[in-house]
Amino acid sequence: MTEQRIAIVTGAARGIGAATARRLAADGMAVGVVDLDEAAGKDTVDSIVAAGGRALAVGADVADKPQVEAAVERVAAELGPPTVLVNNAGVLRDNLLFKMSEDDWDTVLGVHLRGAFLFSRTVQKHMVEQRWGRIVNLSSTSALGNRGQANYAAAKAGMQGFTKTLAIELGPFGVTANAVAPGFIVTDMTAATAARVGVGFEDFQEQTAAQIPVRRVGRPEDVAHTISFLVSEGAGFVSGQVIYVAGGPRA
Ligand code: NAP
Repeated sequence: MTEQRIAIVTGAARGIGAATARRLAADGMAVGVVDLDEAAGKDTVDSIVAAGGRALAVGADVADKPQVEAAVERVAAELGPPTVLVNNAGVLRDNLLFKMSEDDWDTVLGVHLRGAFLFSRTVQKHMVEQRWGRIVNLSSTSALGNRGQANYAAAKAGMQGFTKTLAIELGPFGVTANAVAPGFIVTDMTAATAARVGVGFEDFQEQTAAQIPVRRVGRPEDVAHTISFLVSEGAGFVSGQVIYVAGGPRA
């Protein structure tokens, strides 16, 4: 048996991150469950441990350098050196451009882009040392442009350029970097969007599903499945790609 891989999933207390952490644990990895609040990651860790896996909840704000470095150090000390990283933590601060505050802009760019940058820069050391690594960054169909999301669309398009550059720089060390770009996935994030536009979440899902070629909305497990493939041993020749997980070619 090969040695157990150690993964870090950010924003893994709920939604896509929690499903991804559980899936990677089921795939045989030990998982560092990073979220803003350590206690919030407990449910994800408990479900992994109950299924016979290894996991550790770590509290860190992905946009804060000392917290990111401490989180990676803790995972390395308690689980082992991390060589799989899923930059998933995310927030929305939707507003039309003329109403968007600097804080809305800075917060969204900070969590998605600065967060992915800080985690990738910190974790790559372990990957390069082991001459093996997998990075997956969460983009979105919103990268193609979405009304009310100038900040989020810029961040998610930025994630794609960031990913392709990591693929070029880290490839010689056996490290791949890819992005997944989900469409509509049922999580607290899309529930908040439904609330913002004043539509019940069930109705919102039904209306959205009617516009999606496969005629259903996505589940966190749909994204976790794609990430599971990208971080697998056999996916070493897939790098710098963006995979849309959207039930069709785009939003
Ligand atoms: P979610 O349910 O809102 O979960 C996001 C998680 O990230 C939460 O646990 C949140 O913690 C955590 N988080 C937020 N800011 C953080 C920070 N600074 N440091 C550490 N953790 C932080 O979101 P989701 O729907 O699962 O989305 C996950 C990722 O997929 C995001 O990057 C999102 O942009 C992307 N995505 C989602 C969809 C969709 O339809 N849902 C579509 C495309 C892309 P708190 O609970 O404490 O805030």
